[in-house]
Amino acid sequence: MYLTAQARRLMQLGQKFHLPYFANARLIATTQTVHGFREQDPSFATRIIHGAQEPEQWSDGNPVVMPISLTTTFKQPAPGKFLSYEYSRLNNPSRNTVERVVASLEGAKYGLAYGSGMAAITTVFNLLSPGDHIVSSVDLYGGTSIYLKQVADRLNIKTTFVADVTDPANIEKAITGNTRLVWMETPSNPGLKMVDIEKVAEIVRRRKDVLLAIDNTFLSPYFQRPLELGADIVMNSATKYLNGHSDVLMGMLLTSNDGVHDRLRFLQRTIGAVPSPFECYLLNRGMKTLPVRMRQHMENGLAVARFLENHPSVERVLHPGLPSHPQHELAQRQCYGHSGMVTFFLKGGKDECRAFVKGLKVVILGESLGGYESLVKIPALMPETYQLDVPVNLIRLAVGLEYVGDLIADLDQALRAVRSS
Ligand code: PLP
Repeated sequence: MYLTAQARRLMQLGQKFHLPYFANARLIATTQTVHGFREQDPSFATRIIHGAQEPEQWSDGNPVVMPISLTTTFKQPAPGKFLSYEYSRLNNPSRNTVERVVASLEGAKYGLAYGSGMAAITTVFNLLSPGDHIVSSVDLYGGTSIYLKQVADRLNIKTTFVADVTDPANIEKAITGNTRLVWMETPSNPGLKMVDIEKVAEIVRRRKDVLLAIDNTFLSPYFQRPLELGADIVMNSATKYLNGHSDVLMGMLLTSNDGVHDRLRFLQRTIGAVPSPFECYLLNRGMKTLPVRMRQHMENGLAVARFLENHPSVERVLHPGLPSHPQHELAQRQCYGHSGMVTFFLKGGKDECRAFVKGLKVVILGESLGGYESLVKIPALMPETYQLDVPVNLIRLAVGLEYVGDLIADLDQALRAVRSS
């Protein structure tokens, strides 16, 4: 049996201290490498619960749960002098806690929290000046794409949208003398294309004045940690998997680069797109179950993907955990697993897609992803401003945490209804 490093460590501890519990080390630790993906660090679960949030750091009495610091201002000992905090747009104990927690999960020196994923993304674009150039991808979250085309462009920050980012050479070719940022989403939304972060980081590193930023929203730091692979900045829409309960809008930026952090921190305070302390509390609470949720999203997502792959009404399924995915090998090398995101192509066109979502009884037609509930979206049928250049029969599923048998039965009956309509 393949034994992970963690299993070996646990077994050695068990032998040394005669701990019967660790007799099960093989079972405990071999489950850390799942479906052929990279070996996960099991202590991630401990860090998310205890890391950067010791009870002693808050008010009297050592509360185990992080308090919500609603105050907007802090008493000064003298004019021009401050204790730990000044004014809550600049710094707030609840926000600082989640910033430190997410930083530790992504393996970053610094974390910065924003009022939404888009607030975090546009702060990164604010690092640039008129005349600068960005390299990104055609397959990109609609909000990011619209900002680059309709806002950044107006400010004379031009973007090259590379058609196929799965080949790092295409990204290299798009980099010009004015390029200051390479912005990639991996896996991408909605095409689930994978970018080889290590290779692209190598290309970007040859130029001292270019930064590589990765949108890690689809996997969360539990399944992918781009800083480990050479990225300079990581963005997570915490609205999705990090929070996991569809009741918080937040974004996070993570970096270990001192200079980049200073500039991002300045922009965070100056632009002021910060989350409320209550949202920070909810995010911190939601994150506690991230490893458990992500493992179940992976199990449910893979089962649904395999079901769809064998269904006569389905043309093609995209899931990086399936051997049929064009970058299955890269996904397994780069990631610790895959979330509940599944993209598939229905046989037919707009009418069949409409009939399919109308027939669903458990899966909800709705925006977003990463919550406990399963959601479905047809990107080609979005309101015009948000429409991406995607095939009409592409369906994006965010597989939730319901009993997977119920999900498959629901998809099956909706697909049958399409055939008989
Ligand atoms: N990045 C990706 C991949 C997304 O899917 C989204 C939202 O759906 C965002 C960024 C933006 O996040 P938010 O909605 O929190 O602003």
